[in-house]
Amino acid sequence: MASHLFGRSAHALPRAVAGDGCYLIDAEGRRYLDGSGGAAVSCLGHSDTKVRQAMHDQIDRLNFAHTGFFTSDPAEDLARALIAHAPPGLSRVYPLSGGSEAVEAALKLARQYFLETGQPQRTKIVARRQSYHGNTLGALAAGGNAWRREKFAPLLVTCHHIAPCYPYRDRADGESLDAYGLRAADALEDELQRLGPETVMAFIAEPVVGATAGALAPPASYFPRIRDICDRHGVLLILDEVMCGMGRTGTLFACDQDGVAPDIVTIAKGLGAGYVPIGAMLASDAIYRAIADGSGAFQHGHTYHGHPLAGATAVAVLDRLTQDGLVAEVPAKGQTLVEALTDRLENHPHVGDIRGRGLFRGIELVADRDTKAPFDPARKLHARIKAEAFARGLICYPGGGTIDGVHGDHILLAPPFIIDDAQIGWLVDTLADSLDASI
Ligand code: PLP
Repeated sequence: MASHLFGRSAHALPRAVAGDGCYLIDAEGRRYLDGSGGAAVSCLGHSDTKVRQAMHDQIDRLNFAHTGFFTSDPAEDLARALIAHAPPGLSRVYPLSGGSEAVEAALKLARQYFLETGQPQRTKIVARRQSYHGNTLGALAAGGNAWRREKFAPLLVTCHHIAPCYPYRDRADGESLDAYGLRAADALEDELQRLGPETVMAFIAEPVVGATAGALAPPASYFPRIRDICDRHGVLLILDEVMCGMGRTGTLFACDQDGVAPDIVTIAKGLGAGYVPIGAMLASDAIYRAIADGSGAFQHGHTYHGHPLAGATAVAVLDRLTQDGLVAEVPAKGQTLVEALTDRLENHPHVGDIRGRGLFRGIELVADRDTKAPFDPARKLHARIKAEAFARGLICYPGGGTIDGVHGDHILLAPPFIIDDAQIGWLVDTLADSLDASI
C-alpha cells in the first residue's frame, strides 16, 4: 500500500499492527523485540492491562475540557503524583504533549521568571554540545547536535554551548573520574564569566545524555558542581529528563542519583509510556511564587495542555512505575543487561565504551580501540547495525552524534522494564551478531 505520510514513514517500512509485552508485530506477523523502547518511550511494554483499562475508564468519562475553562481530575491527579516523587523544591507541574513542548515551556518560564523578578537582562541560555532537547525551534537551538541544527540555523536563537561531560573521550590520563567531573563542570563557570553571569538565565542539560551520545552518564562530582555554579550566579538549572527520566536509569528522576534538584525539570517519553503523547515541566516553588505574586500567570499554553486522557494514562503509568514496583526492578535488570553486554562485547575490537545507568545503556563503536578513532561517518555504521538488528527482529536506537566535529557511532538500548533475563540474553546476542555483520 502506498504511503501518504511525510518523512521516514514514507519509505518502505514495515507496518506495525500490534504490540505484545516487549514485542512489536508487523503486518506480516514478524515479531520485533523492542530493545530501545522505540526511543526510550515504551517503559511498560506494549500491552499493559492496567494502563489500557485506565484509558478506557477515562474516555468513558471525559475526553476533553479546555484548560482555559476547566481544570480536571486527571491533570490534578497527575500533578499530585509527580510532585510526590519529584526532587526537593519542585512543587508545580505544567502538563504538555511531548518533550519538545516541555523544553520550550521551560525556556519561556525561565525568561518570564527573570522578567518578573526585575532581571530583564538575563536572556542567555547555556547548553552542551553533545545534547538533544527536541526539534522545535527553541529546543533545537538549545540542542548541540550540529547535523540536526545545520539546515535551520538561521531560524535559531543564539545559545552558548559548552563541552559535554564525556569521560571516555575527555578524561586526561591519570585523572580520577571525580576530578574530571569537576573540571568538566568548570566549563560552565568559564562560559558564564565569558558571557557575563548576570546576563545568563539558564543552563540546560540532560542528566544522562541520550540520543546524541548513547547513555552518557557523568561522574558523581559533575552535577553538584554545576548546581553550585548556577546558584552562585543566580542562573536557573534546567534538567531535561525527557529521555532519561521516569525510572529509566533506576530512579524515577535521573537527577536523584546525582544528588541535585533542578529549578525546572522536563519529562515526556516514559511518562506516557507510548500509550499517549504527553510531556510535562515541573518547576520550583520559588519560580511559581514569583510569577503567581507578580503578573499572576505563566504566559504560555497549547490546546492540548493538560489533556484528560493523557493525564489519566500517565497517572496509571506512574502507578505501575512506583506502586507496582517496576522502577525498583530497573537497577537489577540494568545490571543483568550490562553484565551480558560486558561478557559479550568488552573485548570486541570495535567496542570502545559500554556505559549508562539502569536500563539505559549505550555502546560506543570505534575504528581503533587504542586511539579511540571513530569510524568514517560516511559509513553510517550505526545505521547499518540498526538495519542488521532489525532484520533479525531486534529494535535498537542508533546514533552518530557530533562532538567538536568528531563523529562517534553508538547504539542505545532502553528496553521495557518488564524485560526478562532470557530476552536480555537474546537482545545482547542479536546485537553482537548484528555488529559483526555490519563492520
Ligand atoms: N529532550 C530529550 C532529552 C530528548 O531525548 C527528546 C527526544 O528524543 C526531546 C527532548 C524531544 O522530545 P519529543 O520528541 O517528545 O518532542
